[in-house]
Amino acid sequence: MVDRVRRLSSSEALALWRKADTTELKARARAVRNRFHSPKTATYTIMRIVNFTNVCVAQCDYCAFYVLPGHPGGYVLGLDEIFSRIDELLSLGGDLLGFNGGFNPDLTLDFYCDTFREIRRRYGEWIEFYALTVAEFLYLADRARLTYDECARRLRDAGVLWITGGGAEILTEDFRLRHSRLKYSVEEFFEAQRALIRNGLRTTATMVIGFDESLEERIEHLERIRDFQDEVGGALYSFLVWTYKPLHTALGGREISDEEYLRHVALCRAFLDNIRHIRVSVLTRNETALRALDYGADDFDLPIEDEVTEKAGAVIEKDLESLLSRVRKLGYSPVYRRTPRCPRSQDCDSSSEGSARTVSRKGVGVE
Ligand code: SF4
Repeated sequence: MVDRVRRLSSSEALALWRKADTTELKARARAVRNRFHSPKTATYTIMRIVNFTNVCVAQCDYCAFYVLPGHPGGYVLGLDEIFSRIDELLSLGGDLLGFNGGFNPDLTLDFYCDTFREIRRRYGEWIEFYALTVAEFLYLADRARLTYDECARRLRDAGVLWITGGGAEILTEDFRLRHSRLKYSVEEFFEAQRALIRNGLRTTATMVIGFDESLEERIEHLERIRDFQDEVGGALYSFLVWTYKPLHTALGGREISDEEYLRHVALCRAFLDNIRHIRVSVLTRNETALRALDYGADDFDLPIEDEVTEKAGAVIEKDLESLLSRVRKLGYSPVYRRTPRCPRSQDCDSSSEGSARTVSRKGVGVE
């Protein structure tokens, strides 16, 4: 049996995956979860992902969302459409936006900065938003011919606070060569994330599993994230793992099983002993994701929209009350979590424990 207190090495993680039964994996994960969180509480947000544009030149073979420049069906959302989606989210009681789009060569850094500035001006503290993924940030910096530091400062000055660690998928050079040659190397990914942190922006870590990655590649990804978190002194706010959806993609294939996802969440929690929040993906696993609270996760999003995963087969469960009752049935008290606005501080991790949120079939309201 593996010692549940000492940090896991990569070879121990491999052995745990191959040899440990689910009971042992869960116990190991819960031991780490309990260092950070009350055992019977889970935090959540209500959010939507707004896909600015589906025009993209990266051509990742696991993506069913993009169209190439000049092809029919390409779009760029206008500000009015973005505002209307934010207004709808607010009316449902949510307050977190995740902006996400393709590598669109027609959209400049100024376009993004103007958009974010306008959103901040109009909504102030009522919402928080993930402005870009690290992968999109890399593309924007390159297009603008700016260093990562300069690009980060420009976005920060436009009111951006968060750029998530999206676009990571599997952080090994081999994986990127196999599936997304134009989506930046692992070294570039972390170099950009260092620049974001240096310039006072907040960021997260992510992972997607279920392509054709090997177990060794999964562990390498986790090791890189854990090493990076040590290096940046705990600046990564959370780690989110979701699963590949194969419908309409060039890569194709089949989805992994619920059991494999849950065991993987447990392995992540056990291995990433320096990241406070392990978030799970209702977006790609629906109710199964909530069962991951028993596998060491502590946080989940209730999303109402994401075209990227919906185009690849995700069906978003919008009955928020039903999802929250499922959490309660599992024995957890769900507590709404507002996305922190203070740079780098874990102390401003604000959960609205005192304030009740009411949920109806239509949505959620704050009392
Ligand atoms: S995953 Fe993102 S970067 Fe890759 S093709 Fe799709 S939209 Fe473009």
